[in-house]
Amino acid sequence: MSETHSPGTPVGEFGDMDPEVFRTYGHRIIDWIADYLAEVDRYPVLAEVAPGQVRQQLPLQPPDEPESMDSILDDLEKIIVPGLTHWNHPAFFAYFAITGSGPGILGELLCAAFNVNAMLWKTAPAATELEEVVLGWLRQMLGLPPSFQGIIYDTASISSLHAIAAAREMVPGAEVREKGLAGRPEVPRLRLYTSEQAHSSIEKAAITLGVGQEGVRKIPVDEAFRLDPRALERAIEEDRAAGWRPFCIVATVGTTSTTSVDPVPAIADIAERYGLWLHVDAAYAGSAAILPEMRRVLDGCDRADSIVVNPHKWLFTPIDLSAFYCRRFDVLRRAFSLVPEYLRTVEDEQVRNYMDYGVQLGRRFRALKLWMVIRTFGHKGLAARIRQHIRWAGRVAQWIDAHPDFERLAPVPFSTICFRARPHDLPDGGDDVEAYLDELNEALLHAVNRTGRVYLSHTRLRGMFVLRMAIGNLRTTEEHIARAWALLKEHAARLDAERRPAHWRA
Ligand SMILES: *Cc1c(COP(=O)(O)O)cnc(C)c1O
Repeated sequence: MSETHSPGTPVGEFGDMDPEVFRTYGHRIIDWIADYLAEVDRYPVLAEVAPGQVRQQLPLQPPDEPESMDSILDDLEKIIVPGLTHWNHPAFFAYFAITGSGPGILGELLCAAFNVNAMLWKTAPAATELEEVVLGWLRQMLGLPPSFQGIIYDTASISSLHAIAAAREMVPGAEVREKGLAGRPEVPRLRLYTSEQAHSSIEKAAITLGVGQEGVRKIPVDEAFRLDPRALERAIEEDRAAGWRPFCIVATVGTTSTTSVDPVPAIADIAERYGLWLHVDAAYAGSAAILPEMRRVLDGCDRADSIVVNPHKWLFTPIDLSAFYCRRFDVLRRAFSLVPEYLRTVEDEQVRNYMDYGVQLGRRFRALKLWMVIRTFGHKGLAARIRQHIRWAGRVAQWIDAHPDFERLAPVPFSTICFRARPHDLPDGGDDVEAYLDELNEALLHAVNRTGRVYLSHTRLRGMFVLRMAIGNLRTTEEHIARAWALLKEHAARLDAERRPAHWRA
């Protein structure tokens, strides 16, 4: 990134970087980013570094004297970039594929430039009001009713934490906000219900909120990995009889392993019958509801008390941005508002001060990037891109289904495929066959990832080691999808030929 004629030390004795130096390097960095994004396919998706390798190349002491931007940018290219796993790579299919889109990146740049703290309306009027407006747009795109009000948090984990805190605030007589939970024999133990496929963030929230891991009851799922509502109701009845205080249900639309969708309407019936808070974790799959033909995935969510959707997952917004919607915003405020004198403003009665609705005081101007993303692509453009990802996932599922040496292990309602290699001429079943398949598929995962040409991740379903391919990056094309499939077939055949025990050979 360096050029010989550039200024050396970018700063004087006092003050910030010189404005002209800023301009020079600003232009250069934008050029670098534009090239990076255009050519990101040339990088190995998964970082090819050993633990400690990046750290070893960096000085242990901070610099005493100012350093030139040129030397900083040189190190960026030489040390940092090779140590990155490229989430913005078009063949990134691990976890959930995400995108730092062009408008999103520019939004982040402006966010840093303004550097406003959106804790109070007064400290950032436009940031506060844009957050309200943009979350209103997203709510409409998702087909949720206006009774839902929104707030942006960093991640779905934190959104769900706030949902569960609001649910706890609703427990009559618990008064946890004032009295805490420990050492109070008069308060029954609280119990939260979620499926055994729910995200780990739900259990972490329970840990954080004093509900504890034992306070989370994991409900079994059906053959398609969806929470079983009958088992849920039985569990609630059982717990009530045993002296627990059920207080919250967390349903998932798009579970993390298989993207299964819990039956929210039936779960909402139960939540209403027992007076429990219903939170819906739709971190990844919620974005699909901006497609008219996929709206049904949020069926019943209008009856939930809260729901989280992550635009930083499948709505092309750079990490982090999690949209949290709540029908009981007053309860959220009751759980978290605490206003010391120095944060009082004369507008308090007329405006929304977002600091009142969460743990953190300081808040980034995250709404800006989402506003720029939605305006740049439009609702239709965003929907077309998600539709394309879903279509491609369907195609991969067909390839797997049609291939004798692969099998699919879960339905594909969105853009994520769970599958494994299973050579057709292996014996049927048996623990030793399953052990071999686990080993084969783990080796397959590492082999394709080691090529640097794709990156997939894994999960376990019914004890089996399962490969996951999640499509969701804006720069992904059919070529990248075909590449992943070709690599999988090639390496599965090779590894099976190398590793299969002799007594199972034809
Ligand atoms: C990814 C994911 C999360 C966690 O999201 P963060 O924003 O990283 O906290 C939670 N729930 C589900 C269903 C997810 O897919």
